[in-house]
Amino acid sequence: MSGTRRPAPKFPLRLDQLAPGAPAPGAARTLLRPQQPLQHAALEATRRNTPTGLGLDSAGVRERMVARLRDEGLRHEAVLCAIAAVPRHQFVDAALATQAYEDTSLPIGHGQTISKPSVVGRMIELLMGGASARAAGQLARVLEIGTGCGYQAALLSQLSRQVISVERVKPLHDKARELMAPLRLANVRLVYGDGMLGHAPNAPYDGIIAAAGGEALPAAWLEQLAIGGRLVAPVHDGTDRQVLVVVDRTEHGYERSVHEAVQFVPLKSGLVR
Ligand code: SAH
Repeated sequence: MSGTRRPAPKFPLRLDQLAPGAPAPGAARTLLRPQQPLQHAALEATRRNTPTGLGLDSAGVRERMVARLRDEGLRHEAVLCAIAAVPRHQFVDAALATQAYEDTSLPIGHGQTISKPSVVGRMIELLMGGASARAAGQLARVLEIGTGCGYQAALLSQLSRQVISVERVKPLHDKARELMAPLRLANVRLVYGDGMLGHAPNAPYDGIIAAAGGEALPAAWLEQLAIGGRLVAPVHDGTDRQVLVVVDRTEHGYERSVHEAVQFVPLKSGLVR
């Protein structure tokens, strides 16, 4: 009889089983299936592309950045593990690689920027706080608006079963594809398109995250959000400020909360060839 009562094995590990704030050295490996190939491939790519002598291929540089982010209040262990695993310097020009582990946004061409690690971490932490993500310990399907260089998509790949990332500027979409190729992230799909329309073919999403800020939330995002899902986006607040807006979709409708001020590039409609 006791055999029939054994609880079904849970995979992946539920994050809420981890003590808050406690170091969880095994958590990333248990939770994140792409983690192993990522680390291996990332090191290979680092050797190929990074000017020698910068020491950026050492996981220690990222660990120090993670320690700073933790000190500043980022608490979600799986998010911290993802930041520790993804080589941010691989996503910026070699000339900027030495700044890749500072908490700063950096230009990626076409007037766009890779967002600050603390802001990316904060937004993904908020995203992971949605009802479905909390219950499952990870996100099932995430839509990212604004692939840019692909850094945030790579982080999301570590925390989700599937990532769909939309970019409206073709050369950036192509560049992200190239930068992400060595990481062999099988669960990321890059789409060239206007993210203001969301991406209907893969909807609904239990997470939607925007890396560009508009005047209002596009209706498509709200429609494509699953019940139990959460949307995190910068939105103008009526003045010249942008704030982070979180929308949770429940069976009864949408619940919106407003968080801190942020600075993102503008959300624009249409495509750039
Ligand atoms: N997540 C990115 C941040 C890129 S900056 C990273 O990790 O690097 C924001 C991006 O949003 C820019 O590349 C910009 O071209 C893109 N963007 C703005 N409006 C968009 C839209 N309607 N659809 C898709 N991408 C958009």
